[in-house]
Amino acid sequence: MLSKRMENLHPYVPGEQPKDRVYIKLNANENPYPPSPKVIEAVRQAAKKHPEKLGLYPDPDSNELKEAIADMLNKSGGVLSRANLEGGKKNGSGAIVSPSEFDKIPFVVTPEMIYAGNGSDEVLSFVFYAFFDSDRKLVLPEHTYSFYPVYGGFYDIPLAKIPLKEDWTLDKEKMLETANSEGSGIIFANPNAPTSIGLSRDQVREMIKKAPADKVFVVDEAYVDFGGESCIPLLAEFQNLVIVRTTSKSLCGAGQRLGYLVANKELVQAVTTVKNSLNHFPIDFLAQQAGIAACRDAGYYVKCAQNVAFERDEFIDFLREKGWFVLDSQTNFVFCKKDGVSGEEAYKKIKEEGILVRHFATPGIEEYLRITIGTHEQMQALRAVMEEM
Ligand code: PMP
Repeated sequence: MLSKRMENLHPYVPGEQPKDRVYIKLNANENPYPPSPKVIEAVRQAAKKHPEKLGLYPDPDSNELKEAIADMLNKSGGVLSRANLEGGKKNGSGAIVSPSEFDKIPFVVTPEMIYAGNGSDEVLSFVFYAFFDSDRKLVLPEHTYSFYPVYGGFYDIPLAKIPLKEDWTLDKEKMLETANSEGSGIIFANPNAPTSIGLSRDQVREMIKKAPADKVFVVDEAYVDFGGESCIPLLAEFQNLVIVRTTSKSLCGAGQRLGYLVANKELVQAVTTVKNSLNHFPIDFLAQQAGIAACRDAGYYVKCAQNVAFERDEFIDFLREKGWFVLDSQTNFVFCKKDGVSGEEAYKKIKEEGILVRHFATPGIEEYLRITIGTHEQMQALRAVMEEM
């Protein structure tokens, strides 16, 4: 009864969401802080003042949301943890946000450069459909976001997985060599997951210069707000660059399912065509209101990102003192292992103590744990468990 296509499906396995016990959840790279109070109020007011809108189809192109996203990017420079705050309260809410000198975008991001969708997972899926074909291999690192190979199977796009170097960085040369010989596109997360380290903007620029100019080059910036370098400024130089981002991590919004991409207008149009052929209304009315309010209160999220970055660096110091090997992280998680303790063993021991972290059984990274950074209290609880290991 099943179609032939089903044979190519190998669904993504997200971090577990157990119902049997209340765990401290440090396994899915969610943000430990709640959304801005202004988001809660916007959703409440939207439902209260406009209940009729819940019975109507939402704006299919999320125009107001795209304006709010563009505005936030222009004001923050695309890396919240480095943005400046002026005139803010203690939690940053209501503060004026400006980009650090380093992150200033040398042009104005306009709403036409943005496509918004139902989580960046959906946005990525449309990107795969719009830009990659089954007649050539899409190039990606061997260890990166594990949804990319799932979409490869779903859309019948063959993949060239390039092993990471010994220091866990991308093998840029090999990726480019393969992309040029295949005449194909490239995709990776920057900073990468689960390794937590990223390329600088200059390194990405050098890569794009040498990659096929007629194929799309995708940089997934899901985690960039916690300390990476955004490639949005490179859109002024490259017509084939697509940058995918999400509100799930730095905008404390995994539950509202909002992701977006930034690219030149023609590529945005192509993804919009895919959307209109699959799901005309991907973002519901309330999620649009939540996203708009979040982008308009960027100061609150600057504070959250800075808190996460602070806790992360403290936690890395702690782990290293305790003899763990930890990569430097530009994200809201750390990638670590300890000699003599298997990744699975460590994961189980931590889970027994009521804390969930992520362990991948994937060969090559099975010795490691990926641990999401939580609140100060959550990290204290985790330290108490790891201290014993
Ligand atoms: N890209 C990367 C690198 C991720 O780790 C994730 C989250 N698992 C996503 C995209 C998807 O995020 P979302 O669909 O919540 O926007």
